[in-house]
Amino acid sequence: MSRMRIDDIEIREADIFEILLDSFPDMIHSIDEKGNIVYTNRTAEKLLGYTREELLAMNIRQIYDPDILKAVEKGFSDLKRRGDKTVESILRAKDGTRIPVEIRSFSIYDDNGHFLRTFSILRDIRPIKELQQSLVHAGRLAAIGELASGVAHDINNPLTVILLSNEMVIRSLEHSTPPSSEDAERAKSHARDVQKASHSIQKLADHLRSFSRGMVEKAEPLDLYMSLNDALFITKSKVTKVGASVHSTVEAGRHFVCACPNNMEQVFVNLIGNAADALDGRAKRDLTVSVSPVSRKGVEMWKCDITDTGTGIPPEIREEIFQSFFTTKEKGKGTGLGLSISRAIVRDHKGEIELVSEVDKGSTFSVCLPRIEPPQSK
Ligand code: ADP
Repeated sequence: MSRMRIDDIEIREADIFEILLDSFPDMIHSIDEKGNIVYTNRTAEKLLGYTREELLAMNIRQIYDPDILKAVEKGFSDLKRRGDKTVESILRAKDGTRIPVEIRSFSIYDDNGHFLRTFSILRDIRPIKELQQSLVHAGRLAAIGELASGVAHDINNPLTVILLSNEMVIRSLEHSTPPSSEDAERAKSHARDVQKASHSIQKLADHLRSFSRGMVEKAEPLDLYMSLNDALFITKSKVTKVGASVHSTVEAGRHFVCACPNNMEQVFVNLIGNAADALDGRAKRDLTVSVSPVSRKGVEMWKCDITDTGTGIPPEIREEIFQSFFTTKEKGKGTGLGLSISRAIVRDHKGEIELVSEVDKGSTFSVCLPRIEPPQSK
């Protein structure tokens, strides 16, 4: 047996290989002609939940997903003949978890070309699969955004016709003779309702278009009141749907920052949307928006708080939620991109998003941005 010296300790080479193989991040196994497992490293224990002793008493067919055994069988016989192979497959852990893996295998043969064993390196590809799914979902959302922007554009023409015709109806009712019959008054009030609703649609379509136009924008003096109001307008249906009561103490013309309006609106839309999600189904459903002055690292800032009485966020995920693709929402409801994009936008504006949260009580996300003086009105 070959040995080597490290400092003054003599170590068998085989032990070094064992240590190396056990610390390898991927699972490694070797199987004999019948498919019996004759070697595994420690990573296999961690991945599958079996002890090494249990694995060494098992056959390869017992650790694969039963639904794909036919493919496993074929892969194994190909491998015995061909020598090396890279495939994707699915393992079944002791607790029943299905684990997608990428397997790189090669076979060794004796001098007469008889199959002896295969060695395989199995990489857990769950993170890659999850990322792929998130990207597909994000792509789909981007396509929906483009579609919405197109629809918003197309809505404008018929809407202009509605508004103009309605305006004419209002005018002719105003100038009708006799001047104010009861019927004419009622018709006028209906026509004003149509006018109001059409203006709302027009505003919503404008928002949709500018919102989906993206991030290339110039920073300008921005009244946080305007930005928050626009975001509340966009999220109104979501907030109303969960039955949340909105309280805002923000006044117009007092809290100015230098920021890109669409970007800031996007941040507040994300934060208010998340607050609404956290309030869904809760007994107390309050969403409060306020702005106060703070100082951070010697810089005077406005701190814009979005507070909800929702589920709260457990301390162990409070940093993770800002990472891309981290979501606790069910499929189709969350992309896990809102907070990471919002943080990037706020940091681009030399600000920071702060979080205070208590599980089962609620959360406050605060957007802190450097203050500027209100612009002089001309
Ligand atoms: P998404 O909303 O698509 O999940 P985000 O990046 O906006 O992506 O949010 C990431 C996660 O942060 C959410 O899935 C949720 O678990 C958590 N979160 C964000 N805001 C709140 C909030 N106000 N209350 C509770 N949890 C929240």
